[in-house]
Amino acid sequence: MTINNDWMQRDLAVLWHPCTQMKDHENLPIIPVKSGQGIYLEDFAGKRYLDAISSWWVNIFGHANPRINARIKAQVDELEHVIMAGFTHQPIIELAEQLVAITPQGLDRCFFADNGSSCIEIALKMSFHYWLNKGQSRKKRFITLTNSYHGETVAAMSVGDVALFTETYKALLFDAIKVTSPDCYLREEGISEEQHSLKVFTEMEQVLAKHHHEVAAVIVEPLVQCAGGMRMYHPIYLQKLRSACDYYNVQLIFDEIAVGFGRTGTMFACEQAAITPDYLCLSKALTGGYLPMSVCLTSNTIYQAFYDDYQTLKAFLHSHSYTGNPLASAAALATLSIFKEDHVIDNNKKLINCLAKAAAPLKEHPHVGEVRQTGMVLAVEMVADKATKKPFAWQERRGLQVFKYALSKGVLLRPIGNVVYFMPPYIITPEQIAYIIQVASEGIELATHSAASFINNASLANFKDPA
Ligand SMILES: *Cc1c(COP(=O)(O)O)cnc(C)c1O
Repeated sequence: MTINNDWMQRDLAVLWHPCTQMKDHENLPIIPVKSGQGIYLEDFAGKRYLDAISSWWVNIFGHANPRINARIKAQVDELEHVIMAGFTHQPIIELAEQLVAITPQGLDRCFFADNGSSCIEIALKMSFHYWLNKGQSRKKRFITLTNSYHGETVAAMSVGDVALFTETYKALLFDAIKVTSPDCYLREEGISEEQHSLKVFTEMEQVLAKHHHEVAAVIVEPLVQCAGGMRMYHPIYLQKLRSACDYYNVQLIFDEIAVGFGRTGTMFACEQAAITPDYLCLSKALTGGYLPMSVCLTSNTIYQAFYDDYQTLKAFLHSHSYTGNPLASAAALATLSIFKEDHVIDNNKKLINCLAKAAAPLKEHPHVGEVRQTGMVLAVEMVADKATKKPFAWQERRGLQVFKYALSKGVLLRPIGNVVYFMPPYIITPEQIAYIIQVASEGIELATHSAASFINNASLANFKDPA
């Protein structure tokens, strides 16, 4: 038995993997990763995989980054963890100061947690609780967009709308108000993205007018609905939303867990709309993809609504055991200093252009409905019919064929249904961009020409180790 196979068998005997039908692995190998270096992951047979999706959108400066490694190593000898209630420490203070400094004006307070979904729960609870503390107990509902994704815990699912993740648990979820997403893929021929986003906004305006007295907040993923298939919209929608929320006295939650830290081309997506949300949720790339950490930033005004004598019971009594972990803080501080020292946002402009140019020919493919891009996210929508944008049936699992083909060529892509996307680390080179797009194009060619069951794929032979 080869070493890869050995680990695979041991894994399958005891593990239950996230977001996976485990039966798929009767035919689809699990890749045991031995090490990571820069943009590459390496398995136990020495095969390398170019990580074109930043290991689920978290790893922005490569694996085993020397600067992040050094900072964590130094921190571990100083303080690995300490309770954050009643205690504090240097890295978390410096991190909070820096986050307040680099986020838009008006976000002055950092509440930390240890993953994205928990961060969403915090924003939702804080918003509800804010209104309660203000004597407005009727404001307890949330407005969300169709096709939204905010995480997997029960409240986060309640404000989500990707059926694959939420439908099964419907009976457990609270009733959020769903408003049509400004998703520009669905715009009519000849309509600009700005016009489409404005047109769709009228529904939001109407819903706010009707429900504002019972609504605590609107929650959105600004500019890109990532898990919903990298669907994109124009910043004008966010501007309109900010004004309407102010007018109707409703709070605004931005979930930038996926799009924060340069992914959309600016450090934060909200900068492109030149507005400040009431809550900004960050996680994923915050620690450069090293350690779990999330943060909900909010204003001093909101903070003050909780600030009172203990007996008033206005305090936000929410906590997670690993809140503000010093090792994660060290990784985040190293990540932020790389942004600054290396002028990452500026330098990414070249990569963004490079991605656009390399992917442009895919627009002509007879089974590509759209090639869309917002900054360092580029997505290719495979369709059954180019003219009508009729999708391939999800049961055909075309994306999975692209996944398998790319693996055989040493590229980690993980399409979402029919959407093949690139979300590479910012250390990717133009040559590597050319390669991942070439491999994806070949994979798309293959996947759109045969609906063959994913089990029946010769390229799979490529990543079985020679015995
Ligand atoms: C990943 C993600 C979350 C959830 O974060 P977890 O750390 O996986 O719980 C929430 N919102 C968005 C937009 C995400 O992409």
